[in-house]
Amino acid sequence: MTKPTYTPVNSYPNMAKLVCKDYGYDCAFEVEGDSEEVAKKFGEHSEHEHGIEYSKETLTKFMLDNNY
Ligand SMILES: [Zn+2]
Repeated sequence: MTKPTYTPVNSYPNMAKLVCKDYGYDCAFEVEGDSEEVAKKFGEHSEHEHGIEYSKETLTKFMLDNNY
């Protein structure tokens, strides 16, 4: 409820979105789609571009916390 600018994707329960700058990076990267794909792509991006490796569990938690 604290992030009113995002459109819910309730019709796609497995859809998720991660936006890099939400996690403190000065970076325009974002990925949206199936939650498995989002976790994989965001994980690869953050590892390669920022040197941070997130576990799949962490990324899943990010997506759950987002309420995109
Ligand atoms: Zn990034």
